[in-house]
Amino acid sequence: MLGAPTLTNDRWRAKKIIEVLEREFNIDPNEFIALKAREEGTGIFEALVATIISQNTSEKNSFNAWRRLKSKLKIDPYTLSKADPKTIAELIRPAGLQEQKAKAIVSAAKFIVEKLGGRLEKVLELPVEEARKILVENIPGVGWKTVDVVLSMYGKPTIAVDTHISRVSVRLGFTKTRKYEEVRRKLMELFDPKDYYKVHLLLILLGRRYCKARKPLCKQCPVRSLCPSAVTK
Ligand code: SF4
Repeated sequence: MLGAPTLTNDRWRAKKIIEVLEREFNIDPNEFIALKAREEGTGIFEALVATIISQNTSEKNSFNAWRRLKSKLKIDPYTLSKADPKTIAELIRPAGLQEQKAKAIVSAAKFIVEKLGGRLEKVLELPVEEARKILVENIPGVGWKTVDVVLSMYGKPTIAVDTHISRVSVRLGFTKTRKYEEVRRKLMELFDPKDYYKVHLLLILLGRRYCKARKPLCKQCPVRSLCPSAVTK
């Protein structure tokens, strides 16, 4: 039940906001590396590798690093579990933090080969909280956000929260805190599970295009009439 349509009814506002954002934005896989990796890649493992590469850097740098890695090495758990982390680090250098990310990629590949028979897809058969926990606890360098991006993209009911999403969620009045788990839980309460991945992408686009960190462009923002923080004078 959505309840009465008022600015203070969060479920109603959440639904309206996503409707407006869907009309406003075209979701382009060229702006989201994990989405592009799902489209072009060999499966969930490649989406995980692309998401690790994209930690703490721009989409442009991530795409560059991912393409370099793909041009030299086959992105599958068997190949990468045996690869030299230094080789991977050199290939993904454009994304920064390359040594750390290379170690995470090799650790992920080894874990998948040794414990999941080479198929990361196996975690999709588990309940979502169990799948998240297993991946975070067994792959050093892989945190909740990375895991949530990958699992939600493959249909598991979770929402990954990045810096844009936490900022936008506070400004839209959905949460008071930017703490990862609190924002995630609140968004999961507000939105329909079938929309979780779409919500993730649309809130990022809202943050990138209008609800910018320093100077939000409230006057042009398509959801200004639904936002309690809108400054339109
Ligand atoms: S109206 Fe302003 S504060 Fe609200 S979501 Fe839009 S840009 Fe952000």
